[in-house]
Amino acid sequence: MILSFGIIFFPTVKAAWAAPVSALTFRMAGDELRTRVVVMFDEKPDVKPILFDKPHRLVMELSETRFGFDEKSLTPRGLVSSVRYGLAGEGRSRLILSLIGPFKLENMDVIKNENAPGYRMVVDIIASSDREFADDLAAQNSKGNASPAQAAEDKKNREQQQAAKKFTVMLDAGHGGIDSGAEGVTGLIEKDVTLAFARDLRDRLKEEKDFQVFMTRDEDVFLRLGERVRLARQHEADLFISIHADSVPQHYIRGATVYTISDKASDSVARAMAERENRSDEFAGIVPEDLPEVTDILLDLTRRETHGFSLKFADKVVKSLDGEISLINNPHRFAGFQVLRAPDVPSVLVEMGYLSNKEDEKLITDPKWRQLFAERLVVAIRHFATLKKRVSPVP
Ligand SMILES: [Zn+2]
Repeated sequence: MILSFGIIFFPTVKAAWAAPVSALTFRMAGDELRTRVVVMFDEKPDVKPILFDKPHRLVMELSETRFGFDEKSLTPRGLVSSVRYGLAGEGRSRLILSLIGPFKLENMDVIKNENAPGYRMVVDIIASSDREFADDLAAQNSKGNASPAQAAEDKKNREQQQAAKKFTVMLDAGHGGIDSGAEGVTGLIEKDVTLAFARDLRDRLKEEKDFQVFMTRDEDVFLRLGERVRLARQHEADLFISIHADSVPQHYIRGATVYTISDKASDSVARAMAERENRSDEFAGIVPEDLPEVTDILLDLTRRETHGFSLKFADKVVKSLDGEISLINNPHRFAGFQVLRAPDVPSVLVEMGYLSNKEDEKLITDPKWRQLFAERLVVAIRHFATLKKRVSPVP
């Protein structure tokens, strides 16, 4: 009896006193590419989102709010690196999400709960690029502030910068930190081998004046697979190359392989390899909760075009390595690699060879062989850059 009384009459009394609303629970799901935040309120909150940079933050301005969050629910995950909240002035509160990089506030809704009292605020945040974030920030801040002339000038500057952007390659040294990857016959560790080769390739690419090159890691640190993809998108990479040198029980298997993404694996070696690689995130402890896949026609089209480019690049790599570097039979294979899932960055995984094979292991540690391998990849990248620019000219 008392309970039903509360539900029926409490809101009316509250509104008359303009008492604070209560934010009851906080939940996050998703990964480094897409994170959803859901906050439950007892009453409809009045909320306004604001973006900030240095560091990247999403601030939710609220009318005075009492927060009853469970500390455990605030543990960072996905794109969110910290959550803070509190009173921001008389009658005003703030909920502040710090993010690991540039982001886009894709969606923010306040919805009346269907089967329970109260409201929920659903916030969808997706990883974006430095350029996109700067655009969003400029658009937000120019509303009623900067003069139209200044806004137009800023926009022109950003467009010029974009047009002058060099062909950008993101190199991803597989594994790192707590995840050491495969182990070779003589005790070589994959995470060291991939980093050494990524550095060789970076240094070689830096000699090419029309390329710009980034690395997902340049030290012995652990990175989630989603974070590797996010970094490629942050820099609007034109190409993502993940470097590996795995190990298989069949010690006779050797030679380089180029992998592209597919939901069906080309063969059992490829399937097993993708399963092994996708387990990398387990080293971080919490495995992010999956969000329902967003089906968006535009995204599908982007994906299809990107996938076409990934296949073309894989083809160029095989052609360039052929006759110079020993290749596995059927050197272009495919499987469901999580690290190759950027919808807008052509991505391949290059398996330099197998650490479980003595000959391959010896080659992988030979600086001369690595130099040759890097040289052949640069040739493939150059061919691909020419092709990509012709097919899809820079706007
Ligand atoms: Zn690996």
